[in-house]
Amino acid sequence: MSNLRAPGEPGRHQPGMQHTCGFDGGDNNNPGCGQPATLHLLAGEPPSTIGDYAMVACDGHAEAAKKLAIDWHPIAAVCGVPDALWHFESEQGKGFCFWPAAEGAIHEAVAVELVAS
Ligand SMILES: [Zn+2]
Ligand SMILES: [Zn+2]
Repeated sequence: MSNLRAPGEPGRHQPGMQHTCGFDGGDNNNPGCGQPATLHLLAGEPPSTIGDYAMVACDGHAEAAKKLAIDWHPIAAVCGVPDALWHFESEQGKGFCFWPAAEGAIHEAVAVELVAS
């Protein structure tokens, strides 16, 4: 029996940082795709409202996922890390995720090296 979601309703929660494609055709009773994800997407509602959930998709489901997304980028290790933030660029697909705590540590390490040298 199918259990189709309403438009805009988030799919099942995917474990963070697992990065496996969650595509299930919009049916909560379908198993997720499970292929390694290549794209991190932020759900949106047209024309420009940001949805309150993110998605990860494999190459085969990237185009389907983009139809529901306001922005996306190639998946990176930091995608899905708690406290990581989504950075938008002016063009869709050009942004990235970043992790302020790690960025701070990197800058601090560089600054200490500069002072020491
Ligand atoms: Zn997939
Ligand atoms: Zn990301």
